[in-house]
Amino acid sequence: MEYLAPRASFMASTNDIECCRKVIMGIPMDTTTSFRPGTRLAPYRVREVSEGIEEYSIYQDRSLEELEFADAGDIILPFGNVTGSLQRINQIASILLNQDKQLYSIGGEHLVSLPLIQAYHSRYPDLVVIQMDAHADLREGYLGDALSHASVMRHVVEELGDKRLFQLGIRSGTRDELLFAREKTHLYLDRFLDALEDVKKNVASRPVYLTLDIDVLDPAFAPGTGTPEAGGVSSRDLLFALRDLAALQIVGFDLVEISPPYEQGDNTSILGAKILREALLAF
Ligand code: MN
Ligand code: MN
Repeated sequence: MEYLAPRASFMASTNDIECCRKVIMGIPMDTTTSFRPGTRLAPYRVREVSEGIEEYSIYQDRSLEELEFADAGDIILPFGNVTGSLQRINQIASILLNQDKQLYSIGGEHLVSLPLIQAYHSRYPDLVVIQMDAHADLREGYLGDALSHASVMRHVVEELGDKRLFQLGIRSGTRDELLFAREKTHLYLDRFLDALEDVKKNVASRPVYLTLDIDVLDPAFAPGTGTPEAGGVSSRDLLFALRDLAALQIVGFDLVEISPPYEQGDNTSILGAKILREALLAF
C-alpha cells in the first residue's frame, strides 16, 4: 500500500480509505498506447475539473455529499515496465478487494483493466464483464507484444472463459477479431442503447465489472482520447445507459483512455468527472 499516493481529490471525497466501501483510485499508465499517449494525465485532470460540476445529480436526485466514498490517490507505477505495472495494480486491487472495497478506477490506458478484472475474478468467480468501447480490443497482440491496450479484452476472455464478455458500442476491429468475438464474446456490433435489454437479460444476477473506454463516445463528444473513432454514441445516451445498467449487480467500474493533451477546454475530462459522479451514485 506504500505505492498509493494521495492526489488532488475528487469532489466531495475523503482521503481516508478506512471510512468507506467505495474507493476511487487513479492508474496513470499509458505505456502501451499505440497512437497518441497522454492518458496518464487523466486521473489528475478529471479530479481537478470535478470541482466545476455539481455534486448533485438531477438524473438520480442524489448527491455525492450524501455518499460516503474515498479517493485513494494514484498508484505509483514503475514507468516503462508493463508487467511490473500490471502486477502492482493487481496487488493493490487485491488488497482493497480483500477489505471489501468497491473500486472506481480512472486510467490510464485500457490495459489497466486487465489486472483489475483478474483481481475481481478471484473474488467473484461468476464475474462477467461489460465493455463499452469503440474498439473490440481482441487482438492477439500489437506489434509483437501480447500485452497491449488493443489486446486487453482478449486476455479478459482468457481469464473469464467464453461468453462472459459483453461488448457494447464496438465499431472498429479486424476481421480476425470479429471472428474471435463471434465464438467467444457477446459482441453487439455498432449497437448500444438497443442492446441494453438483451445484456441485462443475459447477465441476470451475476456480478458485473463495467469497463468504460471513453472512445465509445463519438469524438464530437469526447475528443480527448488517443484513438478516436467516428460514428459513436452521444454523451446523453451513455449517461442513460449507466443508469439503466445500475439494475445489475455492478461490483467494479473503471473509466479509461481519456487523454487530456488531445482536447481543448477540458470537455472530455469534465465529462469523465460527470460519468464518475453518476457511477458513484448509481452502482
Ligand atoms: Mn479499449
Ligand atoms: Mn477504444
